[in-house]
Amino acid sequence: MLKVFSIFLIIFVSINGLCILILYLIPIECPRIVSREQWGAVPPKNDSGSIAKVPWVVIHHSATINCTTEAACERLMRSIQNFHMETNDWDDIGYNFMVGENGAVYTGRGWTTQGAHTVGFNSRSIGIAFIGTFIDKIPNVAARAAARQLIQCGVSLAHIHPQYNIIGHRQAALTECPGESLFHEISNWPRFEPNP
Ligand SMILES: [Zn+2]
Repeated sequence: MLKVFSIFLIIFVSINGLCILILYLIPIECPRIVSREQWGAVPPKNDSGSIAKVPWVVIHHSATINCTTEAACERLMRSIQNFHMETNDWDDIGYNFMVGENGAVYTGRGWTTQGAHTVGFNSRSIGIAFIGTFIDKIPNVAARAAARQLIQCGVSLAHIHPQYNIIGHRQAALTECPGESLFHEISNWPRFEPNP
């Protein structure tokens, strides 16, 4: 698991001219995040606009098969990106991040580019999709832990507002996404908002 360190410097200059430097390292726990290069993404067609310190996290499922290995998850990422860009004619894969049941997070549009996952929320949310179909089962513990850690990571890095709220896609659109079981699961997560 990756650790990112925030560095804060405090410099004291004493009366006799000696400079004393104190350096604090604050560890931030982030899950393993697979880059677009690593999963073989193609470049976006256009610039989709930027987002910053978003107040919402929207949870989705991909409504595809699931994946538990690196190779299978990377293959699914490429096929979902292809579907979003060719069939939906979007600029890029729709989600900001996706999460596999191998416990890895896959970079979609990332932290700072507006997604195409939830009409009305794209400019003020990070869209996280679990790879799989979660109508009658929930994602495994590795995927759930990775997603929750990703949210904490986003708060630590100031890409997600500290007072953020979580919703499921179905709360903002006529869709069963993120699946009945997964929706019930996230309704028990901290900062879930039942009335967005
Ligand atoms: Zn969705």
